[in-house]
Amino acid sequence: MNDTEQIAKLFSLPKEVSIISHRNPDGDAIGSSLALAGILRKQNHTVHIIMPSEYPDIFGFLKGIDNVLVFDQEPEESAEKIRKSNVIVCLDFNSLERIDKVGQVVSKTDATIVMIDHHMDPEPFYEHGISITEVSSTAELIYNYIKDTGNDKLIDLEIGEAIMTGILTDTGSFRHNTNKNTYYVAGDLKAKGIDDYYLQDKIFNSMNEKQVRLLGHCLHNRMEIIEEYRTGIIYLSQKDYEFFDIIRGDTEGIVNYLLMMKHIDVAIFVRQQPKIIKISFRSKGDISVQALARDHFNGGGHKNASGGYTYGSIGKVLRKIKENLPHYVTINHF
Ligand code: 5GP
Ligand code: MN
Repeated sequence: MNDTEQIAKLFSLPKEVSIISHRNPDGDAIGSSLALAGILRKQNHTVHIIMPSEYPDIFGFLKGIDNVLVFDQEPEESAEKIRKSNVIVCLDFNSLERIDKVGQVVSKTDATIVMIDHHMDPEPFYEHGISITEVSSTAELIYNYIKDTGNDKLIDLEIGEAIMTGILTDTGSFRHNTNKNTYYVAGDLKAKGIDDYYLQDKIFNSMNEKQVRLLGHCLHNRMEIIEEYRTGIIYLSQKDYEFFDIIRGDTEGIVNYLLMMKHIDVAIFVRQQPKIIKISFRSKGDISVQALARDHFNGGGHKNASGGYTYGSIGKVLRKIKENLPHYVTINHF
């Protein structure tokens, strides 16, 4: 679905707009939000950006990020901004469940709701949408929207860096989810003066010593390989969280190391958080992890990258994963 025209029409007169992205915002959530906010502000709209929970420190270098409101920290002010907006734009998620309590505020407003997103199985909570799964990122969709509405001249350093950040993070530096347009967008941004090397350095060479040691611990002590299903699992218990003093962002990217093994096609990363057990799923090629996340772990996402959550002990969750793997992961045995 591509309601670009209707969305552009909505923005033909100055509006008050709230841009909202998902909890635990990643580079695409943040990048797409900052980019769209930048464009809309240039078109004389009043724009607020609201994230349900905090963003990782590594994105602190992005220009304009200081103006982002975090609902967990400033619930009243965030809710107030949403309530007085005429338009709410939901970016990089497609079900209100992904924005926790912010969803209740959104569902009570009379604002026109727009969704721009690239995940599977969108829920019909919006009036106008751009829902396309065959793109690298929501940031790429924002670039397309800007271009399709004839506004690419408005892309400045701030907007360009935000778009490139979304693409770099959602494609793992062009390793997955790319299409020919992704490279075109990156090329155009580079031609506009966006320094991709600077961004890659800021985003990917940003680990601290604790994070590297935690990665070592995961790979050395917390990794299980299920040969039959070409699957690798890493888990972290509440004790691990306490020992390493793990905070938001510390576990980012760990799941991808499992896929670096030649004989592994499915990677699962299980984290025991205070109230829930959070799970990340990744896969290679034709193997989909989306249905497993959706059917058994209250989640979803993309074919090759999904997430979800459940309750119970680590042992119980690991058993549940292993029981369900055979129904979802079809491996060609050579
Ligand atoms: P990650 O494992 O990096 O947290 O998330 C991978 C992908 O799965 C992302 O595209 C993300 O939006 C999606 N995802 C992560 N957690 C959830 C969840 O709890 N519910 C749904 N529907 N999608 C999720
Ligand atoms: Mn995304």
